[in-house]
Amino acid sequence: MGTALVTGGAGFLGSHLCDYLLAQGDRVICLDNLDTGNLQNIEHIRDDAFDFVNHDLTEPLFIEQPIDYVFHLASPASPIDYARLPLHTLKVGSYGTHHALGLAKFKRARFLLASTSEVYGDPQVHPQPETYWGHVNSIGPRGVYDEAKRYAEALTMAYHRQQGVNTCIARIFNTYGPRMRPHDGRAIPTFVRQAREGEPVTIFGDGSQTRSFCFVDDLVRGLHLLATSGEHLPVNLGNPREMTLLELAEAVIRVSGSKSELVFQALPVDDPQVRQPDITRARQVLGWEPEVELEEGLRRTMASLESGAPAR
Ligand code: NAD
Repeated sequence: MGTALVTGGAGFLGSHLCDYLLAQGDRVICLDNLDTGNLQNIEHIRDDAFDFVNHDLTEPLFIEQPIDYVFHLASPASPIDYARLPLHTLKVGSYGTHHALGLAKFKRARFLLASTSEVYGDPQVHPQPETYWGHVNSIGPRGVYDEAKRYAEALTMAYHRQQGVNTCIARIFNTYGPRMRPHDGRAIPTFVRQAREGEPVTIFGDGSQTRSFCFVDDLVRGLHLLATSGEHLPVNLGNPREMTLLELAEAVIRVSGSKSELVFQALPVDDPQVRQPDITRARQVLGWEPEVELEEGLRRTMASLESGAPAR
């Protein structure tokens, strides 16, 4: 038990992490500027152990209470968001990460960076182990996100090596579940919205590009295991079940019982062709692997939309 600061805590992953930490008996300070997050994601939390701080992390940060863990998730995360907020994405990855790491240093807290599989870019090694250095186009439209995260990883290791901060790095692969925004442009919320509304399901390219989708409960459990481990080097967290986007679209249509047809659109620039985590390290270091099958995760995601209740 301790006190955790969750930056980006009103976002999709952050709000589920707040729920998880509170359920473990931790106190939680949720910090967010509500850029892409939403108070609706945390409005169901009625707990004296929970505080919300509205703050832009690109500005300096001071928190009075003792803090044991800093989970640094604040960052635009979907291609639509970082295309709309390119400079902000770079600033939150750089200044924001400096501020979060500085606070962890001052509080002697364990620091977790929410990094991403995007540090591997359009990978030339498949599946991707943590030892792969990546293949990123720094000047393409996705560069603002990919390079911000690569910088944040370098910064985290520098604070660890030079300043002695107790850090860890989670390389998160595509994660989905309740509370994703239906218009955030990511594949699962888009497909689910289109299927539920009986609209055509739009696939980029011919749909042969692959992804691997992790249900949010599995991911959050992995983040907590990593934060409470003694690991300092990056650990991939994601579901190794790889599928084509065409297979994903068909699964969404099947699970939703929709009659939507499939339509094909041009591929976005620098869209990775393959994406699959090698989770050998997560298995060895954390004893972690995903448990929720795609069809079950899709059912739970859709059920939360049906009920309209705060999705838990
Ligand atoms: P999200 O957009 O739902 O959450 C991000 C949160 O950060 C939002 O609540 C937003 O308001 C907040 N934020 C942004 N800039 C901020 C700032 N300057 N100050 C304070 N708060 C700020 O996205 P998400 O999917 O929950 O992603 C959370 C983290 O996990 C991100 O760092 C993302 O890069 C990482 N990640 C997510 C995935 C995924 O599949 N969801 C995959 C890889 C990495």
